[in-house]
Amino acid sequence: MIGSRDVSGHPLPLRLAAPPATWSRDVDVVVLGSGAAGLSAALAARPVRTALIVTKDTLDAGSTAWAQGGLAGVLDPTDSLENHVRDTLVAGAGLCDEANVRTLVAEAPKALRYLMRLGAAFDPSHEGSGPALTREGGHSHNRIVHSGGDQSGAEVQRTLDENAIAAGVEVMDRAFALDLLVGTNAAGRRQAAGVRIARIDGEGRVTSVGVVTARAVVLATGGYGQVFASTSNPPAVTGDGLALALRAGVAARDVEFVQFHPTVLWRGPDAAGQQALISEAVRGEGAILFDAAGERVMAGVHPQEDLAPRDVVASAISRRMALAPAGVDDHVYLDATHLGERFHTRFPGITAACRDAGIDPAHDRIPVAPAAHYVCGGVVAGLDGRTELPGLYAVGEVACTGVHGANRLASNSLTEGVVAGTRVGRDLAWELPEDVAWEEADAEPGLGLVDPALRSSIRTAMSKHVGVLRTPDGLAAAAEALQLPAAHEATTRAAWEATNLLTVARAVVAAAATRTESRGCHRRTDHPEPREVWVRHLDVRLDATGDVVVTGAPDDHALAVAAATAPRP
Ligand SMILES: Cc1cc2nc3c(=O)[nH]c(=O)nc-3n(C[C@H](O)[C@H](O)[C@H](O)COP(=O)(O)OP(=O)(O)OC[C@H]3O[C@@H](n4cnc5c(N)ncnc54)[C@H](O)[C@@H]3O)c2cc1C
Repeated sequence: MIGSRDVSGHPLPLRLAAPPATWSRDVDVVVLGSGAAGLSAALAARPVRTALIVTKDTLDAGSTAWAQGGLAGVLDPTDSLENHVRDTLVAGAGLCDEANVRTLVAEAPKALRYLMRLGAAFDPSHEGSGPALTREGGHSHNRIVHSGGDQSGAEVQRTLDENAIAAGVEVMDRAFALDLLVGTNAAGRRQAAGVRIARIDGEGRVTSVGVVTARAVVLATGGYGQVFASTSNPPAVTGDGLALALRAGVAARDVEFVQFHPTVLWRGPDAAGQQALISEAVRGEGAILFDAAGERVMAGVHPQEDLAPRDVVASAISRRMALAPAGVDDHVYLDATHLGERFHTRFPGITAACRDAGIDPAHDRIPVAPAAHYVCGGVVAGLDGRTELPGLYAVGEVACTGVHGANRLASNSLTEGVVAGTRVGRDLAWELPEDVAWEEADAEPGLGLVDPALRSSIRTAMSKHVGVLRTPDGLAAAAEALQLPAAHEATTRAAWEATNLLTVARAVVAAAATRTESRGCHRRTDHPEPREVWVRHLDVRLDATGDVVVTGAPDDHALAVAAATAPRP
């Protein structure tokens, strides 16, 4: 095994410190997270299983409720599954798992019809038959269903919330999943046996800690956009599930591939936290990017111009901002004024966000900049959710199933959440993993937690150095900035999240520093092109001492041969 190690003076904890457990529950299936993926899994398992959703906030606190554009699936007879497969593989830049892409694309139309049968009100087409279909960057046909214009995710969340609750799925909200419980199965292998949970109040203080034992643990905790200071993701998306899996010894894959949405609303140099997304669907309706000097940003950059894949648009904007046209180096402008007043009805949510910033998109160009939006990498899992650890399943954005490869095709992720979640739930309805008793972990936490006061240092370092365009010096500076101690003693939601953010941030930096090429949404200024030798995945694990280990890189010899045979510029 070829591996590189991020050895630090400050190892990461292998278990989150928390007060002792004072209660316990037992269910068939425990689902961590209540977005599209988790709800779909619980709903599909429920008819014959006891299913408990554990979610750290309210039901709708994840990314799902924020999705604007919609869900991709072939519903138009002039489109084809093959087109959708091809568009997905092209966006994924050589790293997709084609078999899983084919399964996703084949099941996507069924998933959309299933949501409609559950009551999802997608916007109807003008012709009155079936839902309206729009197009987003990288899609060769109109195949995105949407709801309420730009309220698509909220409609999916509402539909699944209502159906899951009506089906008898139990919800434990304000409940923070800390770490897995692990036992040994009949074959002598480690197997997930449940999860340690902290009940928290509205301020994130612990009210009690308990254990939920289960035959199956489904991770559906979403991505890790909050690892970056500049992000479209809501505050709950802190990479908890990925960090939990790493602490349990489970591998994460492709974590360096972070998709930066090219256009979030730019609200000034000091804006932080979640930023309002200006959906790709706005460019789908003909909006054009201009720099501050009034020059088009995407002309001549890509055949699809303003509808090029996200990574292409985000890096074109970043390069243009670096040139500081008309002295402006931190944003460009999106012009949708050709839509006039129709903008307000087609994009009511975006209109509200713009108005809040004093902008009327029907008449004004919208200031925009790129921000962390979607993570292609995650816990290695199949589209049936299975991970390397029996009893542990991962679905939705927390999982890396290979359907997105090095870059996600727009609107494939909600579809993936519903497809994979439903597949996992259905499998668990049919058969549960063997029953195992959990064993008290040998390793006591030993370490403390990360001080929540360090959260902004982590996020700022990531946005500054590990953003759209990555340099070796920047990545080294990020690694240095992330050498932070885990020595904080107070056990609160904020401290657990800060610890998880640091764990994930170190994994991302280690993988991004290892991949010496540009591919999909990972862009290195020192290696601006993809390299054949890098058509491979990087896996990241935590070793027994809490250091990050990256495996999967080509060996030095292969890299030397690739460098010697590369065409000279
Ligand atoms: C602004 C925005 C717009 C988007 N637009 C689109 C779009 O148009 N189309 C598309 O396909 N995708 C879109 N995406 C991406 C898509 O929304 C997400 O990939 C998808 O919703 C993820 O679903 P999920 O169920 O995996 O996770 P989420 O919906 O993020 O849910 C994660 C859940 O886990 C919970 N959780 C997290 N940590 C813990 C913990 N420790 N303990 C307990 N619970 C926990 C959270 O509270 C939440 O309930 C968009 C994303 C954003 C942010």
